[in-house]
Amino acid sequence: MSIDYHIHTPLCNHAREGMDKYIKKAVSLGLKEICFLDHFTICDSGKILSMNTNEIPMYFYAVKYFADKYKKKIKIKAGLEIDFNLKHIDLINKIVNTYNFDVIGSSVHFLNDINIVSRKYAKSACRFDADILYHKYYQQLEKMLSFDYFDLICHFDIVKKFNQYPVKSFKKQINNILEKVALKNIAIEVNTSGIYHPVSAIYPDLEIIKECKKKNISLCAGSDAHHPNVVGQNFDLAKKLIKSAGYSHLCGFKNRKKYEIAMT
Ligand SMILES: [Zn+2]
Ligand SMILES: [Zn+2]
Repeated sequence: MSIDYHIHTPLCNHAREGMDKYIKKAVSLGLKEICFLDHFTICDSGKILSMNTNEIPMYFYAVKYFADKYKKKIKIKAGLEIDFNLKHIDLINKIVNTYNFDVIGSSVHFLNDINIVSRKYAKSACRFDADILYHKYYQQLEKMLSFDYFDLICHFDIVKKFNQYPVKSFKKQINNILEKVALKNIAIEVNTSGIYHPVSAIYPDLEIIKECKKKNISLCAGSDAHHPNVVGQNFDLAKKLIKSAGYSHLCGFKNRKKYEIAMT
């Protein structure tokens, strides 16, 4: 695959190495497009866990600087991975409307300020029961879909990260969500980071990707790199999975507009 639309930077406080190292890695792999999709995470309390609001302009213009510097070698897009938080939609909208990002990704990592994708949570004794966890997670995704500030849903089924599986089937709820995704004409991300997580699988499952195909939903792809070595990793596996669901194209974004990219 020739794109990687999910790359972090040290601004999120848990990624390593400068932007130029990620770019050089992408160029060395022959990628045609990459997108920095760093976190913006605000808790219910208002505490910001990612780059702060006053760091967003620096981040945005740094990406633009590198996009220009490397324009003959690779297309570099500016994006944000925003944690959905119902209590802070006004701030999220303000950020999205202030900067001319190419793409806004939306994620659910937190349920009531509990980081359900952290190792600390996975080890804690007060983990949610799987049925409750899945119910709450997909309920959040459904709520998120009543807003329009994003173009892409990141790691759609990351709730499976620590191999917790529900007894109850969530197929119907997932299909309802995908129905809304199709109506909104936004994209779903195929994220390879799950290969290194306990689940050892790509997000989302093939079954969900097949449902996306049925509903004519565009797919984008990203490594979720927090280190340059991870850029483009396991894309062969992702490509196989995506093609097996019948896709021949992925999508990219410019100025929040989606366009098709042939899979190579
Ligand atoms: Zn994420
Ligand atoms: Zn990410």
